[in-house]
Amino acid sequence: MTPVDSGMPSAVGNGLCSCHVCRLVSRRSRFSRHEHCPRCGATLHFRKPGSVQRCWALLIASYILYIPANLLVMMETGSLINYRKDTIVSGVVHLWKTGSWMIAVIVFIASVAIPLLKLFSLTFLLISVQRRSHWRPRQRTRLFRLLEAVGRWSMLDIYVVTLLAALVQLGSLAVVKAGPAAVAFGAVVVFTMFATMQFDPRLIWDPLQKEDIHD
Ligand SMILES: [Zn+2]
Repeated sequence: MTPVDSGMPSAVGNGLCSCHVCRLVSRRSRFSRHEHCPRCGATLHFRKPGSVQRCWALLIASYILYIPANLLVMMETGSLINYRKDTIVSGVVHLWKTGSWMIAVIVFIASVAIPLLKLFSLTFLLISVQRRSHWRPRQRTRLFRLLEAVGRWSMLDIYVVTLLAALVQLGSLAVVKAGPAAVAFGAVVVFTMFATMQFDPRLIWDPLQKEDIHD
């Protein structure tokens, strides 16, 4: 046990349960199954049911989609003199070589580093929860909050392709098209966001409680 949890009462310890649908807090016996919310009638659960399994499923799907997102073509750009197809990484290298260092760094961080860090962080949280780890629960909770906050800001590549396509189509001599990697990349971002939403951060604190909490 860490000093963080010493003497702290928990909702479960007091038989209190929050409804997952209408958020009403009501009393529920820890031992009876299938009790219902007195307000909306939804089945009450102390924890999101199947949260770890669903989170794993979405996370594995994200890992798989991360491969085509990086190997396939993200953007096709063409003009009268030049036509090129870029993956995320070759795009970053091209930006770097042509002197746009700042944009290269931003695209690399937003499209390569952050999605990978998000996947690794969520994997770490899931493994630590499954192993019922007592290691730094406060820091792990902060990590989860960071993951939630970062989620919606990871679509940079999609924004760039969409913006460029919209801008360049106005002139008739140049073409910008989104490649198949854009779909895979968008799916990675959305699946990682769903995986984060499925994760129940209270599971981080459960091993520190005296009560055995399930469901
Ligand atoms: Zn309810």
